Amino acid sequence: MVNQKERVLLVEDEGDIRDVIEYNLEREGYLTLAFDNGEAGLEAIRNESPDLVLLDLMLPGIDGLEICRQIKEDPTTRDIPIIMITAKTEESDVVLGLGVGADDYVNKPFSPQELIARVKSVLRRAPLKQTLEDKSLINRHGLVIDRSRHKVTSAGEQITLTATEFRLLHFFASHPGRVFSRDHLLSRVIGDDAVVIDRNIDVHVRSIRKKMGALRGLIETVRGVGYRFKD
Ligand code: CA
Repeated sequence: MVNQKERVLLVEDEGDIRDVIEYNLEREGYLTLAFDNGEAGLEAIRNESPDLVLLDLMLPGIDGLEICRQIKEDPTTRDIPIIMITAKTEESDVVLGLGVGADDYVNKPFSPQELIARVKSVLRRAPLKQTLEDKSLINRHGLVIDRSRHKVTSAGEQITLTATEFRLLHFFASHPGRVFSRDHLLSRVIGDDAVVIDRNIDVHVRSIRKKMGALRGLIETVRGVGYRFKD
């Protein structure tokens, strides 16, 4: 069982601040990916699907607002929470007022403790769970998941899943193209459910794939990272 760390992606052009943030996040057990410009940051957000993005507002090239807007417009990245880093209170007001979809903000200068508290709080709020509730009927590539009736058909054939398998498959299919680590899946989908005997995600995925038959390839393995539902 791989113990995957939550991944925080940071875009900040000031080296000193970037170092301080990275150091403190890593000390708290997060894996960090840091970038000093908007272009590289945006590309990495799309490719890496981090669990959280820390985004400086004022950046050379593409600024933080534009990055935020683009992430939130793209269905494959819009569920990634974003904390904006702003220089002044007025800037935070602007960020919130524009409604670009940032989940929170911190003002410079901030203490590492304050930043870590915000990161933890935003990750805990788990917006993915909300979207999960919303999508009651999913139809992708011949896989139909009817949440209200708890029914799944794969290429026209009805299949029977355990409650855990159902939740897992529904979660995957609700976020096509996004890569989820095993740890992430365990905490977001299985949680503290005492009824679930096997906490090994691989076992559940193997069983789901078997039942999906011809459509088994829809759940893709991303080596060294986890799983992804075909986009
Ligand atoms: Ca800056």
